[in-house]
Amino acid sequence: MFSSGNASNGKRPDAAIDFEAARREMVEHQLRRRGITDERVLQAMLTVPREEFIPESYRDLAYADAPVPIGFGQTISQPYIVALMVQSLQLEGHERVLEIGGGSGYHAAVLSLLAAEVITVEVIPELAEMARKNLERTGFHRNVLVVCGDGSKGCPEKAPYDAISVAAAAPRIPPALLEQLKPGGRMVIPIGEPDAQELRLIIKQQDGKIESRFLTYCRFVPLRLAEEPQE
Ligand code: SAH
Repeated sequence: MFSSGNASNGKRPDAAIDFEAARREMVEHQLRRRGITDERVLQAMLTVPREEFIPESYRDLAYADAPVPIGFGQTISQPYIVALMVQSLQLEGHERVLEIGGGSGYHAAVLSLLAAEVITVEVIPELAEMARKNLERTGFHRNVLVVCGDGSKGCPEKAPYDAISVAAAAPRIPPALLEQLKPGGRMVIPIGEPDAQELRLIIKQQDGKIESRFLTYCRFVPLRLAEEPQE
């Protein structure tokens, strides 16, 4: 008698996937060939096990060239977009980085390998908890702080930041984020309408002037505001 595969041996359906090979392939085909050139970024993307940040039912899509659902209507960004965002920040290793939209914790894990300290703010408490657990299980938690709250206000307690990475779309740059960015600092943020945005690199010059450069078209989930406390 033949049964149809995995269920019979008690293994998860993804037990047969060679995630390491899939990760190497993703770095070669989705990143290097599309112009991600920073070796530190490529190495970080090669190191972080993306499958550990994705709900079990979607793990076979861990290295797909696409965003993947992480629950609560949210998604983990396509690997290329994560790499492009991280590369644009030009991190050297000594920086304090603020991420808005912690989600699964994956992007924060990548940042943790490239900067000294990462603070990631997530508005949905269940996702903040999931990010914490994922980061701890994979060992990337040592220099990452997960804060649950409304990231459109940044995280003034730890400001200023050398770099800010925003993983949810806004119609314009939230002023608090510009304020909390150091002079000379860089921010990546999707700006535009809910269904189509431009990923932009914002550079705050030493004299406070703001330069904004177009990186690519993109589609992120909207930046939400936390509910106001009820009277
Ligand atoms: N960087 C994440 C994916 C982010 S998806 C990862 O690697 O998995 C965007 C996230 O932004 C969602 O989890 C959403 O809940 C969160 N978000 C939306 N509005 C927010 C806000 N105002 N403050 C903090 N997080 C917010």
